[in-house]
Amino acid sequence: MATTFEEKDYDRLLECVHCGLCLPACPTYAEDGNEADSPRGRIYLMKKLADGKLEFTENVVRHMDLCLGCTACETACPSGVNYGHLIEKTRAVLEENYPRPLEDKILRRTMAALLPYPERLELALLPARALRAAGLDGLLESKLFKSFAPTKLKSMLSLLPNELPPMGARHQLGEIIPAEGERKYRVALLTGCVMSVMFAQTNEATARVLSKNGCEVVIPPGMGCCGALHTHMGYHDEGCDFARKNVNALNPADVDAIIINAAGCGAMVKQYGELLEDQAGIANAAAEFAAKTRDVSEFLDEIELNTEFGPYPARAVYHDACHLAHAQRVRLQPRKLLQQIPELELVPLNESDMCCGSAGPYNLVEPEMAERLQKRKVSNVAAADVDLVINGNPGCSLQILAGLKTAGLEHVEVLHTVEVLDRAYRAVDS
Ligand code: SF4
Ligand code: SF4
Repeated sequence: MATTFEEKDYDRLLECVHCGLCLPACPTYAEDGNEADSPRGRIYLMKKLADGKLEFTENVVRHMDLCLGCTACETACPSGVNYGHLIEKTRAVLEENYPRPLEDKILRRTMAALLPYPERLELALLPARALRAAGLDGLLESKLFKSFAPTKLKSMLSLLPNELPPMGARHQLGEIIPAEGERKYRVALLTGCVMSVMFAQTNEATARVLSKNGCEVVIPPGMGCCGALHTHMGYHDEGCDFARKNVNALNPADVDAIIINAAGCGAMVKQYGELLEDQAGIANAAAEFAAKTRDVSEFLDEIELNTEFGPYPARAVYHDACHLAHAQRVRLQPRKLLQQIPELELVPLNESDMCCGSAGPYNLVEPEMAERLQKRKVSNVAAADVDLVINGNPGCSLQILAGLKTAGLEHVEVLHTVEVLDRAYRAVDS
């Protein structure tokens, strides 16, 4: 439990020289032009909080809550300020010191109690499935519903994709997927929590693509939520619990890599070493676990890629998920993989690494700013005149899909990088 800033965090605050070079990269500053909603402004507030010269007032909390945690400011910062760490620590201190309004607290606690648990999430999605099955999902689009439903509920429902994987699809993969042909690698796949329920098809595509590349894929049954959702909301201790559970579920020495296909989860797992460094008995294992972790595009770029692709005719843009481009510095790898697919034309996307407003639970707790950034992303996609948006994070897919639907651009498909690779492999067989 963090009730105050620790000395090492305080030292990190001092690394900011207030040059302001990060300001143009910050999505919230780009939208509202408020210095307190910029990285420099927030660091200034953090320092005042740490010095005891400021308290967590409603106004201060607004500026902290509005931060997406996208870490675009880290990419832009010449002084190497670890802003992502600072905002996480600030949020942990905030949650211990600030009494949130009841409605806000309930929403956050409900998400924390629901999203990381696939069984509970499946149950929560039952009403949406029932409406779909009864052909009544148009009700959610009706003017009546839109006029009376609270903004946060509308925002949540707008993120539901047109098609959900069937109930129980997350169990489809089993625990071992053999390599196709000669086994060259043995890798573990983290199938995640929300990912396993709402994007079971992406996990299946990931396993097939890895198998095509000589990987035996194991899915350790004890591995689940990475802990990012809790950590991003300031529930540090619960985030650590999830991290410990994953580290205990797999001996990293048994695999060549731990593969993750959700950018936010990958960024989190790569921090396990630091997250658990003070915890006796697990610190070394956590560091080894983090060191073996790779985003799926990163891993495929490192090995000798099987390039037996069939044609995939499409004009596409690649959207850089923040937790892949900024937090993990993975930008070129997915593009290099996609460029090897015949007839797939990749065209530039303006502001490709500007957050789409998804940012973990952000679009559920801060729907207004999330919608502004969603519109900004969709207008850049529209300007590129494409029929496909490719990215490496399921949250971005939901956010961009919902934005395209609202803008009447439903013909534009949104796919994960591995889904495009998978389709190109299958194009050979068909
Ligand atoms: S994490 Fe993103 S939203 Fe937050 S200050 Fe940095 S650039 Fe701005
Ligand atoms: S975070 Fe980095 S770029 Fe931004 S004001 Fe501080 S030192 Fe400058």
